[in-house]
Amino acid sequence: MPDFILYNSQTRRKEPFKPLKAGKIGLYVCGMTVYDYCHIGHARVMVSFDVLVRFLRAQGWQVTYVRNITDIDDKIILRAQEQQISMTELTGRFIDAMNEDATALGCLSPDQAPRATDFIPQMQQMIGQLINKEHAYAVANGDVYYAVESFADYGKLSGRKLTDMQAGASQRVETDMYKKNPFDFVLWKAAKPLEPSWPSPWGEGRPGWHIECSAMSTCCLGNHFDIHGGGGDLLFPHHENEIAQSEGATGEPYVNTWLHVGFVNVDGEKMSKSLGNFFTIRDVMQKFAPEVIRYFIIASHYRSGLNFSDSALKDARQALSRLYIALKSVADLAQKSPLDTAVLTAEHAALLNDIKMRFMAALADDLNTPIALAALFDSVRHINRAMNDGQTDRAHALATQLVELGGILGILQQPPQAFLQQAADSRAVQTDNDGLAAIQIEAAIEARRQAKADKDYAGADKIRQDLLMRGIILEDSHDGTTWRRAD
Ligand SMILES: [Zn+2]
Repeated sequence: MPDFILYNSQTRRKEPFKPLKAGKIGLYVCGMTVYDYCHIGHARVMVSFDVLVRFLRAQGWQVTYVRNITDIDDKIILRAQEQQISMTELTGRFIDAMNEDATALGCLSPDQAPRATDFIPQMQQMIGQLINKEHAYAVANGDVYYAVESFADYGKLSGRKLTDMQAGASQRVETDMYKKNPFDFVLWKAAKPLEPSWPSPWGEGRPGWHIECSAMSTCCLGNHFDIHGGGGDLLFPHHENEIAQSEGATGEPYVNTWLHVGFVNVDGEKMSKSLGNFFTIRDVMQKFAPEVIRYFIIASHYRSGLNFSDSALKDARQALSRLYIALKSVADLAQKSPLDTAVLTAEHAALLNDIKMRFMAALADDLNTPIALAALFDSVRHINRAMNDGQTDRAHALATQLVELGGILGILQQPPQAFLQQAADSRAVQTDNDGLAAIQIEAAIEARRQAKADKDYAGADKIRQDLLMRGIILEDSHDGTTWRRAD
């Protein structure tokens, strides 16, 4: 295998990845703030890191995957007040919803999913260390701030220099009367009336957002760990501030490799809650199977922009259906006639190995999922050829490997018939009133089967042509006829 290469946001280049401890990898991903349903941007983060974890494990590495849950935050407090429910009731509801969405998208559960409110003492301890080392200061109203000027490396992740930022922002930044520098950020917020709070050496209050991840990541993975990831929008200031906090408190390096997932765009604009142009995973699952959404995400490289549209999802559905149709044709054949158990020829073994190597090499190159998928489509081409040539053992071995490699991407793990029917049903939902309902199509297929049985081949062909005119494509196999809609 070639080296595993990852693009490190901090050095802005691809680097060979070396775990700190041989064979073991600590991975921390910034998770969701649980006050609403997850949107497609969240889906992209979940799926991208799920592919990373699956690939690392397939390489024999032991991964500890931590994805935190932010369950205390201004937006959570506000939403709970609006709905007149407790904060824990609100966060409990959306943690459940998030887990359901992640499971539907085929994401493995993280090994640890720490919740911020369970780590208040550890956050306070870290804030205490920062005050002792003069990286932080408490002010009269009970807030505690991080002093960005105290950390010489501030800006090393984002490449921003404090002096440049100050010059650029002098007109805009609202200077807080308590802050020594306008870029100082809050570590501990003094309690406001009716807000949840915890006692602390600086008075009743609650943690700032950035300190959560520093405390939870070091608690779960140690002061210095391998990979820290998240959405691209977290690079600055969130991850920059995490470095300042963790390295300031421990005096040790914090993270070796920083990974950031690109934005999801809708009509050329970044999809975001604040712009109001976002789709929840649940919205999209109304129209498309979850595996189609997953395929849509991995069909682009994780760092590039991902353009969300109905037509892109339809393309994803069609591409994924092609993979499943190949698997179904092999499965149908295997059911019909027992497999030829002949030993594979050396030439065929070499073909299987070549496909697998190209697939793995693509993923080893900064998780290049589009190239890895191209290797799978090559496999389909060979399956079809083997089927046409009547080489069932060849087709079967290729199909088995296709499912195995698909598993590393978290796709192709359903029975083909189940996926294809789901895809057909979701197309039916989207068909306008002119479109044929599934039941009508099934009836036409049955009529055609009967016509063939009666040797009325012209009649059978007419039924096929009529369906085609209405956008329905029939596929005959040994086991009968399946149909799909032309997109
Ligand atoms: Zn975070």
